[in-house]
Amino acid sequence: MIRACAEGKEASSRIVVDAELVLQKPFTVGPAARAALGRWQPRIAEAFTVTDRGGREFRARVEELTDDSAVLLPFESLPRPSESPVGITLYQALPQRERFELILQKGTELGVQRFVPYVSQHSIDQADYDAKQKKSHRWPHVLLKAAKQCRRAVIPELGETRSLDAAMYEARQADLRLFFYEGESCWSLRDAIGSEKPCRVALFVGPEGGFAPEEVDDFRTLGFLPVSLGPRILRTETAAIAGTAIIQHVVGDID
Ligand code: SAM
Repeated sequence: MIRACAEGKEASSRIVVDAELVLQKPFTVGPAARAALGRWQPRIAEAFTVTDRGGREFRARVEELTDDSAVLLPFESLPRPSESPVGITLYQALPQRERFELILQKGTELGVQRFVPYVSQHSIDQADYDAKQKKSHRWPHVLLKAAKQCRRAVIPELGETRSLDAAMYEARQADLRLFFYEGESCWSLRDAIGSEKPCRVALFVGPEGGFAPEEVDDFRTLGFLPVSLGPRILRTETAAIAGTAIIQHVVGDID
């Protein structure tokens, strides 16, 4: 069954059919499932991960497609849920060049539920980003392609670019609030997580220039734990990808 805590607002992209699916038996979806399917920009013969009334997941191929209906053919039942039981939101300082697209792609494959780009003292800002790369409009397409490729049941959410303060404020709702920090007096990830089984995890990754000292102070004041990813200095994209994978291993669905 799908654990409630893992489904964020974007559960609307989960294709849920109101029936028990049977392999090789075509099924005509209703309006709600058709609307969710529409979020995936489907084409005939494309396969998607579909959830049936019993919460079981299948791979199903689009056999017919009209504006308000679709016929899906379930051809494979999935042995385990494709979405992680833990809802990870990755807060990423806007990085230089195409690094953010790499983080979106790899984070999607690793089960990130939501990405929130933010601007900090040492990061570039959105205007800079778009002036240099004119690519932020591609981000939703990068997410959709990655979600299709890795057979997600849900398309990860992409939040608006915001200030670090606004990101911290929003992230205070998470059960586990971590910021990846290469400075002194960090926690190990295992100690920071302890025996918790969090539902919602907020991970902050700093920019190429690192966090400013006052930003580190703010994190600590707001109860975020500084966690180390080892003795070496990682690129921002490496920290985002490796940090997410480790969290999925410790509290999520990477055994
Ligand atoms: N202060 C770094 C330096 O001296 O080059 C610059 C920041 S590093 C390139 C980018 C981000 O990756 C950091 O802000 C931090 O979030 C994360 N990071 C890099 N290495 C890390 C480590 N060993 N442990 C935890 N986080 C790390």
